[in-house]
Amino acid sequence: MNLGISALDYIEAIKNGEFTVEEFVSETFDQIKKVDGKLHAYLSLNDKALDQAKELDKKRKAKEKIGSCMGMPIAIKDNICVKGAKTTCASKMLEKYTAPFDATVIARLRKQDALFIGKTNLDEFAMGTTTEFSVYGPSKNPWNQEYVPGGSSGGSAVAVSALESVVSLGSDTGGSVRNPASFCSIVGLKPTYGLVSRYGLISYANSIEQIGPMARTVKDTAFLLNVISGIDPNDNTTIDNHGEDYLKNIDSGIDGKKIGIISEMVGKGTDNTVSSATKKALAKFEDLGAKCEEIPIDMVDYSVASYYTITSTEAGSNLARYDNLRYGFDFDLEGYEFNSYISKARRSFGPEVTRRLIIGGFVPSAGHAGKYFLKALKVKSRLTKEINAAFKKVDFLVAPTVPILPFKFGEKLDDPVAMFLIDFNTVTANLTGKPAISVPFEISNGLPIGIQIIADSMQEKSLFQAAYALESTTNLPKVPL
Ligand code: GLN
Repeated sequence: MNLGISALDYIEAIKNGEFTVEEFVSETFDQIKKVDGKLHAYLSLNDKALDQAKELDKKRKAKEKIGSCMGMPIAIKDNICVKGAKTTCASKMLEKYTAPFDATVIARLRKQDALFIGKTNLDEFAMGTTTEFSVYGPSKNPWNQEYVPGGSSGGSAVAVSALESVVSLGSDTGGSVRNPASFCSIVGLKPTYGLVSRYGLISYANSIEQIGPMARTVKDTAFLLNVISGIDPNDNTTIDNHGEDYLKNIDSGIDGKKIGIISEMVGKGTDNTVSSATKKALAKFEDLGAKCEEIPIDMVDYSVASYYTITSTEAGSNLARYDNLRYGFDFDLEGYEFNSYISKARRSFGPEVTRRLIIGGFVPSAGHAGKYFLKALKVKSRLTKEINAAFKKVDFLVAPTVPILPFKFGEKLDDPVAMFLIDFNTVTANLTGKPAISVPFEISNGLPIGIQIIADSMQEKSLFQAAYALESTTNLPKVPL
C-alpha cells in the first residue's frame, strides 16, 4: 500500500474499494512504529483509531453514507482540543489536561469522518520556530535528522512528510504552519484571519493567529480548508465564506496575473541558495504567464519587532490563567503561601515561554506602553495600509517562506534575536490578516526550500490557483526514509 498517496487519492481508493480504512490506518500505525522513535512527530496516539476505522468500514459495507473524509488519517497539533485526548501544548503546565470538548475544526472533521491519528509535537505553547522548546524534546527533520523540522507546528509537518499521516493541522501565529511546511517540504496554509474558527485552539496571540491545514499537495490543503473553514457562533471573529469550494477551478492557472516581490524579503539576510531558488520560482511564474515586479514595503523592516511586542503582550494575558490551581501538575501546596506557590508553579514554564512572559509583562506596562506596545500597533496598522495598497497593484506577493535553509539543532538556541529573525518573511501575513501559503519548491543538497505566496483577504481561492500552478512546475524527490 502506498502511504504517500494524497488525501484525494486516498478518498478515491476507499470509494473504489482498493483497500479498507482499517488496512490504511493499521499501515499508518506501522509506519509510526517504524519511524517515530527517531522523528518524534507525535506526543500521543489515538488508541481508538483502529476501532473507529473498523466502524467506518462496517458502515460502508452496509451502504450507509459516511462523511467526505472517508476515514482519512489526520494528525492534530497538541494545542488544539480533541475531546477525550490529552492536549498538552508541549508544556509541563498542561501535562495532565484532557480536553473536555472538540475544537470547532475537530468537530467539523469528525462530522466528515476524518480519523484522528494522534497529537503532534510543538514548541511550548507554540512559541518557537524549531520545536526545540517542546518540554518533551524536539521533532527531527525527516530529510536529515540532524536538522530542525521548523516550528512551532514541527510535529504536524514531520508526520505528513514522513508518511505518518496523510494530512495534519497546525496553528500559525507568526509562521508556525508555513515555516515547518517549508523545512519539511510539504504545503502549509495560514488562512485569512477569521476564515477558520479558533474555538478550541489554546490561545497564544489570539488577535493574529489561525489554525491552518498542512498536506503533501496543494489540492489536499484546499480540500482540508473546505472542511474546516467558515463562520462559527463560538468564535465571533469568524467570517462567512458561504461554503466556498477551494478545489473548484484550482487548475485555472495564473496567466495574466500580477506578482509583486517584496524587496525587503529577498534582500539582505536571505541565504544565497534560497535567493536563487526564489529567482527560479519567479521565472516559472513568468513562464506561466504572470508578470513579476519588485515592490518595496517599508514597514516590513519593523514587522518582527512589532510582532514580538504584540504577541508577547497577548501571551502575557492569555497565559495568566495557568496558576497550577485550575490547570497544572502535581505540586504540593504544603509550605507555600498563595503568591509564592503560584510563582513557583509558573517557574515550570520553559525558557522561551518565560522570555515571552517577561517581555509581555514589561512592554504594555504603564510608563512603557507608548514606547513599545502602542508603537508596535502603529507599525501593524501602517504595514496593513502598505500591503493593502500593494494589492491594488498586484494579485499576489511572493517571497521565500523562510530566508534561510533548515539548520542543525542547537545552532540558534542561544541567540533569541537570530531565532526571531527567521520569521522575517512570515509575520507580515499574520499582522495584516492576509492568507499565505508555503509551496515546496526545491531540495538543495538534501534540504527543502519553500516559496511563500500571499494574497489579499479572503482570496484563498486564487491563492490556491497560484500555488497549484507553481507546484505543477516542480518534480521533487520523495523524503529519504
Ligand atoms: N516563531 C514565532 C513565535 O515564536 C511563530 C510562532 C507561531 O506561529 N506559533 O512566535
